[in-house]
Amino acid sequence: MKRTFLLTAIFALTSVFAVAQRLPQLATPENYKITLAPDFDKDNFAGEETIQIRVLKPTSEIVLNSAEIEFQSATITSGRATQTAKVTLDKTKEMATLVFEKAIQPGAASLHIKYTGILNDELRGLYLGKDHEGRKYAVTQFESTDARRAFPSFDEPDYKATFDLTVIADKGLSAISNEKIASDTPGPGDAKHTVKFATTAKMSSYLVALAVGQFEYVEGQADGIPIRVWGPPGSKKDGTYALEVAEQCMKYFNHYFGIKYPFDKLDMIGLPDFAAGAMENTGFITYREVILLIDDKKASVGLHQTVATVIAHEMAHQWFGDLVTMKWWDDIWLNEGFATWMENKAVAAWKPEWHLELDDAEGTTGTLGVDALKNTRPIHQAAETPAQIQELFDGIAYGKAASVLRMLEAYLGPETFRAGVDTYLKQHAYGNATADDFWKTLAQVSNKPVDQIMPTFVKQPGAPSISVQTQCTGDSNAVTLSQKRYFYDRSLFEQGSDELWQVPMCLKQDGGKGQKCVLLTKKQQTFTLPACGSWVVANAGATGFYRSGYTPEAIRAMGKTAETDLTPAERIFLLSDSWASVRVGEQQIGDYLALAEGLQTDRTRAVLEQMAGQVNYISDYLVTDTDRDAYEQWVRKLFSPIAKELGWTAKPGESDETKALRARIMGVLGHAGRDPEVIAEARKLTEVALKDPGAVDHTLAFTVFGLSAQNGDSALYDELMEHLQQKGSSLEDYYIYFQSISQFRDPKLLHKTLDFAVSPAVRSQDSLGLISAVMENPAGTRVAWDFVRAHWTDIAKVGGGFTSGEVVHATSAICDAGMRGEVQDFFSTHKVPTAERTLKQSLERMDYCVDLKSRQTPQLASWLEHQGASAGQY
Ligand SMILES: [Zn+2]
Repeated sequence: MKRTFLLTAIFALTSVFAVAQRLPQLATPENYKITLAPDFDKDNFAGEETIQIRVLKPTSEIVLNSAEIEFQSATITSGRATQTAKVTLDKTKEMATLVFEKAIQPGAASLHIKYTGILNDELRGLYLGKDHEGRKYAVTQFESTDARRAFPSFDEPDYKATFDLTVIADKGLSAISNEKIASDTPGPGDAKHTVKFATTAKMSSYLVALAVGQFEYVEGQADGIPIRVWGPPGSKKDGTYALEVAEQCMKYFNHYFGIKYPFDKLDMIGLPDFAAGAMENTGFITYREVILLIDDKKASVGLHQTVATVIAHEMAHQWFGDLVTMKWWDDIWLNEGFATWMENKAVAAWKPEWHLELDDAEGTTGTLGVDALKNTRPIHQAAETPAQIQELFDGIAYGKAASVLRMLEAYLGPETFRAGVDTYLKQHAYGNATADDFWKTLAQVSNKPVDQIMPTFVKQPGAPSISVQTQCTGDSNAVTLSQKRYFYDRSLFEQGSDELWQVPMCLKQDGGKGQKCVLLTKKQQTFTLPACGSWVVANAGATGFYRSGYTPEAIRAMGKTAETDLTPAERIFLLSDSWASVRVGEQQIGDYLALAEGLQTDRTRAVLEQMAGQVNYISDYLVTDTDRDAYEQWVRKLFSPIAKELGWTAKPGESDETKALRARIMGVLGHAGRDPEVIAEARKLTEVALKDPGAVDHTLAFTVFGLSAQNGDSALYDELMEHLQQKGSSLEDYYIYFQSISQFRDPKLLHKTLDFAVSPAVRSQDSLGLISAVMENPAGTRVAWDFVRAHWTDIAKVGGGFTSGEVVHATSAICDAGMRGEVQDFFSTHKVPTAERTLKQSLERMDYCVDLKSRQTPQLASWLEHQGASAGQY
């Protein structure tokens, strides 16, 4: 699965609080024959299924997963005898027990069940969606535990079986599923047609998929595999870019994995109502419409990249996740980490000019931030209930797991790593495996201690900070590396803790004076480099999942020659490591700002993006009213020269990286720098784009609309609202307006935005994202938090009540001790089972922000004053 697009990190799908609930091991399924008949007048469906099972021991009952299903009849046939079952339902455990009078003997048997279910509006199970014209469609979203809402089943990932799906649909509606259509015949009756799909490969129930509705498609192929891109009527023209991406990825993966795409065809569909970003159902991937169907000529660079990387992510899952599936959800990180690691790699092979390897470095530094919390979790984490399983789909399962795999690939070398992956997939094709299976295979293939290294990153929470001390004697440099767990909590960090990592790392000195790769296995170890330099970088190549702790002198020295001696990815880490030292008080904020100044001739989009992120954070949380002017001046001095070079208009043939850089630089100048010229030009361009959405490059449009909103009045607000509710905008334009109405500073306008967020005008998939965006706007934090408390019953109901964890996550934007107390009090009586860890993390982040503000604000003031005095200005 791929997390949401505009929405923040947490992705939660259920709030059903339940006790440990695994099926008893009485029988296993071999084949399901399922007929589904959706009824769009009654918003329900009729179902009938025959499950061929293998009974494992004598039993008079069979237990299946089932939720919101009404049983009409259930029988079992074993040998020649058929018996009727008495069905008892356990709502809490989401199980149905079929009890038979006479015991069933081990061996083959078949269950026959007739039932009805509901087309719900909760974006899970077999649910009801509506397109832009209000036409209804039915579609599935089963991961993790919602196949049981569409058919009674052994709904755990290691009960793999084959599926024969049949759909009875209204005439004129398309039906799409995991397999090719085997037959499509008229009837029953005049108004229906019956679509039978071919038998699937052996697969897990959470990967079964179906869509029934009015859709159209564009078609292509790669390596002989048919590929179709579907969407609502009228969207066909917007499917060509996705088709091209899928064709490229198909070729790349067929080559990379050494196993040709293991299914018969690939369908992909963009859906107007969809909770996640996308879902990797076998042979039939479902997406949010905006992440699949785009105007290739007008869409922003960012959206092009998102569409490409999400498609690559879901397609990588066809091998890693679908062909080979984790045994249980505790290893979901192996699915998600692998697909996340692979998404940029596959797209980079097609579009090297996007430099997605730098986004990987940025992603790793972001994930290290999550792992700096006391309440982070190990990558491998036990989970039993649907709520616990759902909370595993977090930044650790995606980001940290991907970063750790990247480190491992760098350590083994790409070809050895690939050979290991290939062997692992061949060993477990159409079956299930665990992380240990993966390590063992990689250790065997590489002859390196992968099975020693990986558990230290997978089973322990947190990440090491590795401090670097050098001692030069003659022409050799003794480099002493010491590791301890990095915490934002300063006292915990100082104390140190017991974790010990085995860290593959590469060292590098300035001026090309020697590079060496080592394996750090102890708390402290000394390695020798063959020459002396003025500094040693501890994460050469920037592929390691750890922080490096340098002395302020070393950072200063690196800053001076960073552009020639360090790669862009290493510069991203240098900025991040320096900021991490500020967070724990080992450096002062002035040291960080001086480093930023040292990099001011850098023109790498990703490096400046990393810097701009911090500069904006400082502006939002650490700058007082007294220092505001001086800080703004400093920001302008730093970034204006770049803005002047770039100008506002794209030059002919300009690269996507330059377009993206322009948007970032104008953004930070307008936001943290409050540069009047930039703000005025942004407003001008906003007016132009409101009159003619095609007239302003979409890559820049997000920035100019955001800045205009930050400085906007009620007239602009009303204009944006009007555009937002007008039909016929492109989806990207819709989200530009949508995002903008969260960025105003006037609390009254923000209150209107919040009311709008919970109104029927906003699709439930977008509702909480908008509330969260207001909360993350420093001018809106208070207003949003008060709104959340006052409207909790409405908010908790959005999307059937399974996504409210997103709002819990958004409270981490609060940087105020009083409000922190309010959040703690409120959620102690308004529990969100899918966000228990998230709440602890949010409270922790608030603590650290308050602490950082109290320590660094005075330091920032004096640094700015000193700058002003020495520069003879301000
Ligand atoms: Zn995924």
